Amino acid sequence: MSTLRLVALLAVILSVPGCAPETPARKKVVVLAFDGAGWDTIDPMIDAGRLPQLERLKRRAAWGPLETFKPTKSPVIWTSVATGKSMEKHGILDFVFLENNDIQVPYSNSERREPSVWQILDHFDKRSVVVNWFVTYPPDAIDGVMVSNRFRKALLISDDRRARMADAVHPPEMLDVLLPFVSLDYQDVRNQRELPDLVELHDGLAPDNDGSQIPVLKDYWIYVLQEAMIDDVSRHLFETEDFDFFATYFRLPDIVQHAALSLVDPELVERTLGALRSGEMRLEDATELRQAVAELLHPFYRHMAVTIEHYLDNVDEDTYVIVLSDHGFSLHAGGYDHYHIPEDAPAPPGIFLMTGPNVEPGRVAAVSVYDIAPTILHVLGLPTGEDMDGAPLTLALKNTHPVTRKRYAKDLMTPKVHERDVEIDQRTLEELRSLGYIR
Ligand SMILES: [Zn+2]
Repeated sequence: MSTLRLVALLAVILSVPGCAPETPARKKVVVLAFDGAGWDTIDPMIDAGRLPQLERLKRRAAWGPLETFKPTKSPVIWTSVATGKSMEKHGILDFVFLENNDIQVPYSNSERREPSVWQILDHFDKRSVVVNWFVTYPPDAIDGVMVSNRFRKALLISDDRRARMADAVHPPEMLDVLLPFVSLDYQDVRNQRELPDLVELHDGLAPDNDGSQIPVLKDYWIYVLQEAMIDDVSRHLFETEDFDFFATYFRLPDIVQHAALSLVDPELVERTLGALRSGEMRLEDATELRQAVAELLHPFYRHMAVTIEHYLDNVDEDTYVIVLSDHGFSLHAGGYDHYHIPEDAPAPPGIFLMTGPNVEPGRVAAVSVYDIAPTILHVLGLPTGEDMDGAPLTLALKNTHPVTRKRYAKDLMTPKVHERDVEIDQRTLEELRSLGYIR
């Protein structure tokens, strides 16, 4: 090659950066997860002007019921949201399983068989902050911050709390940053957040029946402290950490609805369930009971709405915000829940809302828990997983780029070994029993 041609070639090579299109704005995704939130509770409250934050959000978001699947158990569904895959693939089948020695233990992150969206993002050098997501202990060693669900569980036990919490976060040095957000002053936390005292409420309705002995109510104070801590930790990390992907999970709407029928007029509950059982009342006519439950839930949904609006007010225009739940609740002759529902009834759908730079506002025709991970990857400009069970929600996006696909290998997951914390496992099993999830 002549010197002249070489110089010309070099000039072309060196000029490439100058010719490259402008770097597009950095897209980010924020996911706000609320266990058990349902449209049938939210919509009447919006209509009555009692959830103005969600009314504003719904007007500018793509939204709809989020299709979910049986068994409608939270660890199963939240792992499907995180992986885009069915439970047969991801391996988290229930709340608990029997270990080799026939001892019942809660599922942990070590049993998950498919990479989560934050592990895929890590592979592309994207940074994630994940707080309190179901089945994330032991935390994944990704670039970013993981506060596993063990962190809040450590609040249950006063011995060695610090050591138990240290083990629950990645990187471990985050512990000192997070500890100042631990408050054990229930009345103070509850008052600040304008949440009712449910034991007091119960005792007012049924004075001969001690509310502090009812399983879910007995631990209500700790649920409130856990939720407040997760809220504060999440807001702090959101403000101080750099991220491409941020996700946080709240569970109070679900917990309170589990106890709902012991927190409204007992006579109304008896009358309605009795009439449903004997066929004297149709489900759609059980509005009085539904309204009573919605009234009970209002302070918790208001709390959720305030949290959501805080994030919406503080994201930049290139950020997508996804708000979702894993399921709603079904009223039936046997109760008001999401896992003992009649065989022929579908899993009660959750909620889905999404805003972002090119999101088309309005109701989306169909979206399922499997579509969340593919959608996150797609809007961040990455291929969706070839063997994921959902697809990016392109119908809700204006002028979006073509969907690409890739098979993400399981070796994106680093093997995790951890010792079981017998005491925390025990408390977790008790909690699951009190919520009616296991016997
Ligand atoms: Zn749930």
